[in-house]
Amino acid sequence: MTIPSVRGMKDILPPESARWAELESTFLAHAARFGFREIRTPILEKTELFSRAVGETTDIVEKEMYSFTDRSGESLTLRPEGTAPVVRALLAHRSELGEWPVRLSYSGPMFRHERPQKGRLRQFHQFGAELLGTDSPHADVEILVFLAGFLAGAGLSGVSLEMNSLGDPACRPGHHRNLSDFLASREGRLCDDCRRRRVLNPLRVLDCKNENCIEATAGAPSILDSLCEGCRLHFEAVEKGLAAAGVPFSRNPRMVRGLDYYRRTTFEFVIPGMGAQNTVAAGGRYDGLAEMLGGKESIPAIGFAIGVERLIMLLEKNGGATTEAGVFLITSHPRFQDEAFQWKMDLIGKGVRAEMDYEGRSVKSQFRRADRSGAKDVVVFGEAEDSRGAVVLRDMAAGTQEEVSRDEAMRRLTRLVKKEE
Ligand code: ATP
Ligand code: MG
Repeated sequence: MTIPSVRGMKDILPPESARWAELESTFLAHAARFGFREIRTPILEKTELFSRAVGETTDIVEKEMYSFTDRSGESLTLRPEGTAPVVRALLAHRSELGEWPVRLSYSGPMFRHERPQKGRLRQFHQFGAELLGTDSPHADVEILVFLAGFLAGAGLSGVSLEMNSLGDPACRPGHHRNLSDFLASREGRLCDDCRRRRVLNPLRVLDCKNENCIEATAGAPSILDSLCEGCRLHFEAVEKGLAAAGVPFSRNPRMVRGLDYYRRTTFEFVIPGMGAQNTVAAGGRYDGLAEMLGGKESIPAIGFAIGVERLIMLLEKNGGATTEAGVFLITSHPRFQDEAFQWKMDLIGKGVRAEMDYEGRSVKSQFRRADRSGAKDVVVFGEAEDSRGAVVLRDMAAGTQEEVSRDEAMRRLTRLVKKEE
């Protein structure tokens, strides 16, 4: 019996893997233009990092973490998200990371034991960025312009930005009380989880994906009505900045996000009509997180994460696939194989993707393979041409071909690549 992969964890196969690599380097390059440098944190962290940062009563910590005790008896967790590890790393390496604000980007796998379904996996991937060390609304606007620009540049259309503010320790407790009172009057219509959440963490009730809970909470008080002066001014400045930058958005006072560390600005980029998996990218401000992790001073910060599987799924719908150029070498007789192999190595050495058949298949079958490989050009080593020191060069897209000397063929194939670069 063969061994299957772990449920909800997928192999990323070619040609899709090439799309992944391309998207990742585009993301990191886009981030670099805003001054973000890449950080690579370990995939395993101490469990405590996430229980403290993400919050004991969140879905992630309550039921989704891959935690285990290692051979030295320590509780470790496969990271479910990227922000807490980045803040931990910043606290550990403050002086090495230079002046504030610090801008860090990342890309990598995350792990959550959720029910696998379309757009929801147990190992999934995120691209993210964190801007740490400033509470300026300019930072919020920068992060959103960066993210909106990347998504649009990747070819994603029909995406809309929803904004909310979750307040801060000055105004959130008051809102919690209002919300909890409201929810008490709806208690009978809430799911078991939400009845518990109502007492422990009432905001979480608004994040429940259960239809009955969504209906029961339709008239819930809006957090935007209970913001303190500081939070209100911050939110208005961000909205003004977005308008000035030409980034369209709408307010969604029900948005709470799945992590407890958020304060003030939170946001989601959503695609309407995708059900519960409609969020492609999300994030927010987490001004209190560094202190929650034991930092001596507060480090106001904001960041986001993009769900790479969801992004790629949406880009495929939009028809974003690309074909690579390349050369396929066809031999009309096995005696040309050594020479074709030499060409293949030469072409690859010069940066051209090159393929050939090693099995001595018929010319017709080699042409079929050339077609399927997506090669732009084909070289045919034919008997008649060989007697004149030439080969046939065929342009697959145009369907035209020409007999040229070996030197000329090699020149054209490598010149083509230089032009494409
Ligand atoms: P959702 O409400 O969709 O569960 P979340 O609040 O758990 O999202 P975040 O923790 O903010 O999401 O993660 C950011 C992004 O990562 C999400 O918007 C989504 O695109 C992606 N994501 C989150 N969980 C998964 C998963 N299990 N599988 C695939 N992508 C995911
Ligand atoms: Mg979730």
